[in-house]
Order: sequence, then structure tokens, then C-alpha cells
Amino acid sequence: MIWPEVRDDLALLAGYHSPQIEVDVRLNTNESPYAPPDSWKEDLHEGITKIDWNRYPDREAKQLTENIASFHNVLSSNVVAANGSNEILQSLFLAYGGTGRSAGIFEPTYALHSHIARITGTEVISAERNSSFGIDQETAEAVIAQKPNLIFLCSPNNPTGIVESKELITYMLEECLKVGSLLVVDEAYSEFSEWSSVELVKDDAPIVVSKTFSKTWSMASARLGYLLGPETVVKALKDVLLPYHLDGFKQIAGRLALQHVGEMNSRVMSLTSERERMAEALQHLPIQQWESGANFILFKPLPEANISGQKLWELLLERSILVRNCSSWSRLENCLRVTIGTPEENNMFLGALEGILE
Ligand SMILES: *Cc1c(COP(=O)(O)O)cnc(C)c1O
Repeated sequence: MIWPEVRDDLALLAGYHSPQIEVDVRLNTNESPYAPPDSWKEDLHEGITKIDWNRYPDREAKQLTENIASFHNVLSSNVVAANGSNEILQSLFLAYGGTGRSAGIFEPTYALHSHIARITGTEVISAERNSSFGIDQETAEAVIAQKPNLIFLCSPNNPTGIVESKELITYMLEECLKVGSLLVVDEAYSEFSEWSSVELVKDDAPIVVSKTFSKTWSMASARLGYLLGPETVVKALKDVLLPYHLDGFKQIAGRLALQHVGEMNSRVMSLTSERERMAEALQHLPIQQWESGANFILFKPLPEANISGQKLWELLLERSILVRNCSSWSRLENCLRVTIGTPEENNMFLGALEGILE
């Protein structure tokens, strides 16, 4: 028997997984700790009775696309929705990456960017962020000089929480225009920060912004994301997406969510204020933290705490608190990332942390 072999380059890839462990306090995957509003669930209940289950869904997801467009004040021709923003990222690689093409990525950042690059056979041009995890202009310039087909930014950046400045993104966009690179800004968390690159999106600028219902909208389970960008890019993505990729249920779930903007905004506001409270509390502990514009905080024990990040993660887990263990990731030695939860969850996390570090 000769068993079929997967591609050599895939065999070497490690998957991207966060352990799904049963714990009391789950603060490891940046989900919203809040369920979506009850009124949305009721609307959805009603909405799904209208689905023609024996028919294919609206191929263009026209209504959802229009609703997203008006939510962001752009045209429908500048929007494409998909199964999570990860599918958007994958489609960008399918359309603009691939064999013989390249993508610029500034590490450390969201692991999926380089992961999907490799799956699609796209060469990764990897650049390093500076010591405070910002991107220096010279570094950006050096990457763009290599004329990658795609350049990925993540703002706020996962896992550091750092928000890229408008100056940097505007500068990079101008440089991209000169060499034919497409600038991708992954904004999974931008609602928790002060500004969004959406304002830079227009038909004659090579910039796209990807967004998701997974975090802000408390809808990680629905797997819905979208891209805002120039019409030509939107068209290219539609060419590589599978036909009828967005099921009827998801289209309704997304449309109805956009009728509950007020509740979503208040969830974002309470998480943002909890983040500030957490940051303030961490200041009183032997902890180094990075200023975050997202719904999580990256932190690590200071040398005087005499504990490794790995050990700290284990002791938190013993207390049934799960945070993301980034301590083995490149440049993130001893670092952990905590998602902002409900006030009660955050208190349990802070209490446990204090207990361990005392
Ligand atoms: C969580 C996250 C996403 C979300 O992906 P979905 O497929 O929309 O759930 C995208 N980008 C970053 C940086 C994330 O952290």
C-alpha cells in the first residue's frame, strides 16, 4: 500500500490552536464574555423561520452587504463578507498571494497571517517590530522596498494590543502605491481603540481593512467577518471565494446584529473601561504590561517576581483561570495575554495573580 502524502511544505506546519480546556474563568481567546442581547436572539429565532432551507442562499449576500456598507458609510461595492475574517485573510492570499508571490509581515503579530501565507505557498517577508513592539518607519520602508504583493498590519495588534498610528499607516499606504503592494489592516479589535483605518478606504487606494463579528459583536460562534476595500479588490475576492460560501443562517444573524448597534456599543464601552481598570490594577503588581487598544492585555512577570511566565500560567490554571500562554513565542518570552472578561472574572484573575505573586 502506498498512502497518499500531503504536500511537503504542509507536513512541516504546526497548526494554530489555543487549548480548549474546561475552566471557571476563560480569558484566553479574546472572545466577548457577554452573550449577544436577548432581543437579537429573539429576532434571530423569528428570522430563521423565513429561511428557504431547500434553496441556496443569496450568493452575493446582498442585504447583509448593504447593511454592513451603511454601517460603515461606504458603498456595497466596497464590502465583501465571509466566514470569519480568517476567510477574508485566506481569500486575500488566494487572490494576491500564492507561488512566486510574497507577503510582508511584522512580528510578533497574529500567527494566522504567516500561517495562511505558508498554506497558500506565499513567501513570507518577515520583519521585526522594535523593542516596544512598534513598527519603525525604516523597517516599514525596508519591507516595502522588497515589493511584497501583500503587506499585513494588525491594529490593534494581537497579541501586543498596540495600535498603529495614522501617520505610519498613511505613510505605508503612500509607499505601497509606488510599488504595487496591497496594504491589509486586520482590525479584529479596532472598536476597542481610538481610530480605524476604514477612513482611508477608497477605490483608488491600495488598502483593505478586515473586520469580524467574533469579538466586538459577541458572535464568535457565528463565524462572520468582512472586508472593506476598493471595488477591484472586492471583485478579486469574490472570484476566489466558493460559490454560496455564506450560508443563509449567517446572513440573517449578521443583518439582525446590525440592528442592535446600541447594545454592542455599550458592551464595547464596558470592556474598554474594564481594560483600564485591569491595567491600573496590574500597575500595583510586579508585572510589565503593554498599553492595549484591544480587549486584552499582554503582560509578563518582572524579574523581581521570581517566576517564569510558564509557571505563572500553570499556577493560574490551577486556580481554574485560563489565559493565553505566549511565553514560548518568539520575542514574547515569559509573556501571557489576558482577555478582558466580566468584572467578576477580572476580579478573580486579579485576585489569583495577587495571591501567586505575593
Ligand atoms: C480573533 C482575530 C480574528 C478573528 O477571526 P475570525 O475568523 O473573524 O473569528 C482576526 N484577526 C485577529 C488579529 C484576531 O485576533
